[in-house]
Amino acid sequence: MNKLLKCDLHVHTEYSFDSVASMERYALRAVELGLDAVCFTDHIDVNAYRNTFASFPFEARLKEFERVKKQFEGKVKLLQGYEMGEPHLHPRETAFLRSLRPDMIIGSVHDATVLDGIADRRQYERAYDRCVREMVENGDFDVLGHVDVLRKWHGDYVEDFDYVCETLRRAVRRGVVPEVNTSSLRNCEFTMPTLQAVAKYLSFGGKYLCVNSDAHREEQLDEFPRVREALPDGAVLCYFERGKLRTEI
Ligand SMILES: [Zn+2]
Ligand SMILES: [Zn+2]
Repeated sequence: MNKLLKCDLHVHTEYSFDSVASMERYALRAVELGLDAVCFTDHIDVNAYRNTFASFPFEARLKEFERVKKQFEGKVKLLQGYEMGEPHLHPRETAFLRSLRPDMIIGSVHDATVLDGIADRRQYERAYDRCVREMVENGDFDVLGHVDVLRKWHGDYVEDFDYVCETLRRAVRRGVVPEVNTSSLRNCEFTMPTLQAVAKYLSFGGKYLCVNSDAHREEQLDEFPRVREALPDGAVLCYFERGKLRTEI
C-alpha cells in the first residue's frame, strides 16, 4: 500500500491563462511540504471563448521546465503535462500534445460550448455529466479531471450519483485514472468526486487514483494527508512519467 505517496499532479503555472505562479516557486513550496512529485498541467482550451492552443508557448515552457527540473533534481520529482479541455472534441490538438511526449494529460470538461444555451441548472448539470461521459469514452487522456466540478460551482448542485459512478466504471474499462480533486476543500467539505463515489470506483475494479490540488498559486499546494488517509482500502496512488503509470518514486 502506498497511501503515503505524496504527489500533486494537477498544478497551474504562469503558462495557464489564470495563473501567474512560476514553476520555480511551486518547486520550492513542494520541497517545503516534502512532496514526492509535482506535475505542471497548464490549461489548453480550444473553444468559442478561449483558444490557448493557438498561441501557447510550447517550446518556451518546456525549456523553463527543463531548467527548473534540473535545479531541483534529487529534491522533488518534477513532471509536466497539460489539462486539456474536452479532448474528445479536439482530437487534432490532443494528438499534437501527445506528440510532445508529456508525462500526462488531464482530460477535463470546462466550457463546454456544447452546454451553451442551457439556462436550467439541473439540465446543465446532466448535460455536463453526459459530456464527461463522452470524454471518458472517446478522449485520449490519462487522468480524469474533477468529474463533478459543478458540485463546487453550483451552490445548489443536485448530483446524479449513479450516473457519475457509471462514468467512473467506464473509466476503469478505458484505463483512465480519476483524480480526487481537492480544490473544493478550500471552501467546502467535499472532494470531487466524493469519497463515496471513489468507493464505488474501487468496487468496480478501479485501483489507481491521484489526489490533486488543482493549485493556481503555490500556497495552494498541499499534501492533503487527511484525504489520502481517508481513501478506501485498495486505492493505490499513482503518477505518470512519459505516459506510463507508476506507483513508486
Ligand atoms: Zn479544470
Ligand atoms: Zn485545473
